[in-house]
Amino acid sequence: MIPATMIVRIRIAFGSRREAFARFHSPVEAPARTAVLMPGFQQNARVRVFPEGAYDAVARFRPELLAASAPELRRIARLVKAGRLSLPSLNVGLVALTRAGERPLEQSGRDLLWSAFELPIYEQLLGPRHETLAAECGAHAGLHLLPDTPLEVKVQRGGVRVRMPGGALLDFGLRARLDLGRCPCGLETPRLRELSAPHPEVRAVAAAAY
Ligand SMILES: [Zn+2]
Repeated sequence: MIPATMIVRIRIAFGSRREAFARFHSPVEAPARTAVLMPGFQQNARVRVFPEGAYDAVARFRPELLAASAPELRRIARLVKAGRLSLPSLNVGLVALTRAGERPLEQSGRDLLWSAFELPIYEQLLGPRHETLAAECGAHAGLHLLPDTPLEVKVQRGGVRVRMPGGALLDFGLRARLDLGRCPCGLETPRLRELSAPHPEVRAVAAAAY
């Protein structure tokens, strides 16, 4: 049985998180009707948030841009390819949202999404409160670290980590290379390139080290 004090603490924590909904970072400048299949984001006239799997409601919203975790985008792509889901309004692109501990899209996911939609694909890295930490640009040459986030993203020995406000390091469980060169899109902010999940055995060894 869960003690009542613990329930109160959980409710307080949940309440403070509700107030801290993050703003969705659109990868395109033009306004686009956006469906985000992940809770934790603010809604507005253009951005609507849905739970994972609410495909009928998403289709009725007629989104031009679709954002979800990489596994959810893979599920949607397979349904579309199988003719079990139709999203003809999509015409801007797809955004893969990756949180700490989650699998990124990787090349096989990009190939699957392209075969289903033939639309631009943008990957983004999210912090613990869904704040966008890094975002893929229109040149598709890595994920730019966003300058206006209070969390510092670091790449240490190939591992992606985030310096939290209290100083603790959050390990994303991802590997990447930090590119400091100028991007073909014109931005000079550092980029995470070749974002990938390490081999499961490597992750297990890393976890045992803590
Ligand atoms: Zn760029």
